[in-house]
Amino acid sequence: LLVESVSDFAILSIDLGGKITSWNSGAQKVFGYAQSEMIGGEFSGLYCAEDVAGGLPSNQLGKAALYGSSSIESWLMRKDGSRFLASGKLTQLKRDAAGDVRGFVSIVHDTTAQHATTEELRRRAQFDELTELPNRRTFYEHVQRAIGSMKRRSANLFAILFIDLDHFKEVNDAYGHLVADQLLAATARRFEHCARAEDIVARIGGDEFAILLNGITDVADAREAADRIAIQMRQPVAIGGQDVNATVSVGIAMGSPAYERPEDVLRDADTAMYSAKLHGRARAVVFPGADERDGSDDLAEDLLHVLERNELRLAYQPILRLRDSTLAGFEALVRWRHARRGVLLPAEFVPKAEESDLIVAVDRWVLGEACRQLASWQRSGLDPHLQMSVNVSGKEFSRPGFLTDLQCSLAASGSAARCLRIEVTEGAVMEHAQIASGIVAAIRALGVSLDIDGFGTGFSGLGMLQNVAVDALKIDSTFVSQLNSHRGAQIVETVMVLAQKLHVAVIAEGIETAEQAGRLSSLGCTFGQGLFFSAPLNADAAARFAASSSYAAGGLAGVRSMHGRKAKEPGFGESGDSRAGIAQLVEQRFCKP
Ligand code: C2E
Ligand code: MG
Repeated sequence: LLVESVSDFAILSIDLGGKITSWNSGAQKVFGYAQSEMIGGEFSGLYCAEDVAGGLPSNQLGKAALYGSSSIESWLMRKDGSRFLASGKLTQLKRDAAGDVRGFVSIVHDTTAQHATTEELRRRAQFDELTELPNRRTFYEHVQRAIGSMKRRSANLFAILFIDLDHFKEVNDAYGHLVADQLLAATARRFEHCARAEDIVARIGGDEFAILLNGITDVADAREAADRIAIQMRQPVAIGGQDVNATVSVGIAMGSPAYERPEDVLRDADTAMYSAKLHGRARAVVFPGADERDGSDDLAEDLLHVLERNELRLAYQPILRLRDSTLAGFEALVRWRHARRGVLLPAEFVPKAEESDLIVAVDRWVLGEACRQLASWQRSGLDPHLQMSVNVSGKEFSRPGFLTDLQCSLAASGSAARCLRIEVTEGAVMEHAQIASGIVAAIRALGVSLDIDGFGTGFSGLGMLQNVAVDALKIDSTFVSQLNSHRGAQIVETVMVLAQKLHVAVIAEGIETAEQAGRLSSLGCTFGQGLFFSAPLNADAAARFAASSSYAAGGLAGVRSMHGRKAKEPGFGESGDSRAGIAQLVEQRFCKP
């Protein structure tokens, strides 16, 4: 009665020949067979064909005969042919007086639903719901194993690609979350398509993905993987009847036994990815490896030959009028195309160059090249008021020959002095406090403008402003990035008030979002640059940017009219035909193939 009344557990007995001798109501419920169908039937008939072929039923009976019991954790078959995951036990039924086994009793329970829940919970903890890729946590576990494997054997090289979708925020804003989510899911499939069986593709968060490349030979393998991804991403993604173009910026970090935590490798790959963004997006950048980072002496040696090897290049970052997003000019930013290390940013070599007089040669080349490029653009029909900002180090700025060189660069290129702007940091001015006001006055007397770079990041900005009359203050990106905090906004507001009182213009650096651009504009900031508008571009891309912009005549030259020195020049934003602004920029970048 007791056995019969158990309805959730199948309880059956089996004789020594493997035939079923009893079958309770629970067994009928679990397997679907009536008692009359099963008595005398084969116990092995409850197993799947492949397990029967593998000898599993007799194996389990044999174990129970030998040890007293054996556990059942296998897929069994229902009458309707469906399988279920069974969990239970097979026990010797009893021994006779001689101690021989008389048969067996089996108790099994259908645990399919329970396993499904456990499996679902495991899946949710390890995978991202939208893309069904491993999540950050799971990815870290894989990277931790890769680090461990490389520590054991340094030939077990791995690499991480940190991938960020370019302009994803704008896609989100322009098309809505649904389309953006579909884009993420479609992109995930493309990444999987590019990966090999031993690689792990994961979604790290938002629009960030990462791929762990296991068992690679060198950095060329990692670059090749990044190239495969770039090629995949060239095809527009068709979502809801429209084609969405998406490119990716990729940061590559090569594995090293020196790494301890997955976070460290991810951080380096993320840094490289950020550098890819700054270089104009849609590209891959490799994080400098430990061996390269340590070779700073080689770098100093190479720096000696940088000019003769013609390895310097300029990138041009557009500076726009915030009121209507029209182009005012460009800031020239130096890059070193190192033969072995690829493109190096100023942070990687300008401090080294500043330790010696090499910076003077670098700055002189930059000034000459920037003037030459500006004149060439203007000759080719771009806005004659387009301005060029050039960074000058303290050493160069205070050098006795600097003013003469400045005049020579202008004369040799044929560009107008009013189109040139020199940027110096307040630190550089303070360092040469005795002579700075004289130099600045001489520069401005030539008709060249002088702007203070990174205003507020150095010492005693106010003291400097008391002695030196300048044309514009450049608000550093650190302040712009803090705009959403109360304190950050107050600092920017204070700089704006100061600038208005002193009649100098303000140029904000590092604008990365529409909110920052809007906020700065409403605070009275006239000019801005940053990734939101454009990354630094090479000369061709910058020319295309300028040509596609219907800019206002006047450029940053409007700044000078505030001093009353060039009253005839157009003021801020006195545009001819202004562009439709940010919305149009978004349109141009994301909606057209
Ligand atoms: P800077 O004059 O403040 O230049 C702006 C820096 O911000 C550039 O970095 C630019 O690429 C970066 N940037 C652009 N958009 C954004 C953005 O949206 N967010 C953020 N966070 N940053 C953005 P880069 O090119 O690496 O230049 C770094 C610094 O190197 C420059 O800072 C400048 O002080 C110095 N530098 C650049 N070119 C020269 C040069 O020819 N001579 C000298 N002496 N120094 C130079
Ligand atoms: Mg600058």
